[in-house]
Amino acid sequence: MKVVVASFNPDKLVELCSLLELPGLELVSLSEFPGAVPPDETGATLEENALLKARAALRSTGVPAIADDTGLEVEALSGGPGVRTARFAGPAATYDENVRHLLDLLRGVEPKHRTARFRTVCAACFPDRTEVVAEGVLEGRITERPRGSEGFGYDPVFEVAGTARTLAELEPAEKNQISHRAMAVRELRRRLAAPV
Ligand code: IMP
Repeated sequence: MKVVVASFNPDKLVELCSLLELPGLELVSLSEFPGAVPPDETGATLEENALLKARAALRSTGVPAIADDTGLEVEALSGGPGVRTARFAGPAATYDENVRHLLDLLRGVEPKHRTARFRTVCAACFPDRTEVVAEGVLEGRITERPRGSEGFGYDPVFEVAGTARTLAELEPAEKNQISHRAMAVRELRRRLAAPV
């Protein structure tokens, strides 16, 4: 079965595709469909945004579509930036700018109050209008400064709970074992295998 992975972010695409690799599943990127454009992520929640992206991809390709949306929720920022994670430092912010903005906001906050979590929602939409949604959460804390060179986004400042390592200090395969995205994809697979 052909499935379109509804992301134009090359970093996420690599992770999602390796997580979704299954016999019989042919994964194609949305960028392989000329004219397919990502929708504005106007949802108030991660779930709304994941569904917006998967529905738009299904509409423009006719092929079953999977999309994800991820937010970083920081306790000391009342659960923010959440749905604003990608544009935390501004509409066209780079990863570095977002990380710097986060560290600036948390300057002086003690380690025990720097707890945070990554939350990913995955949505799958099918031509017969079936929609399946699943969530994955990874607990951790925001470090005082970036560490590690793997991964992307906020990985260098996200220390995984119960370890002394940031996501950027894990090998890609290790991140794919434990990440919020991995858990969401696993849950999605489980639900697709046994729809309610
Ligand atoms: P998206 O809405 O799912 O594209 O994710 C929003 C933003 O969250 C991205 O632009 C990244 O900055 C960040 N992000 C998403 N997934 C990860 C991850 O696995 N590690 C670090 N940052 C991430």
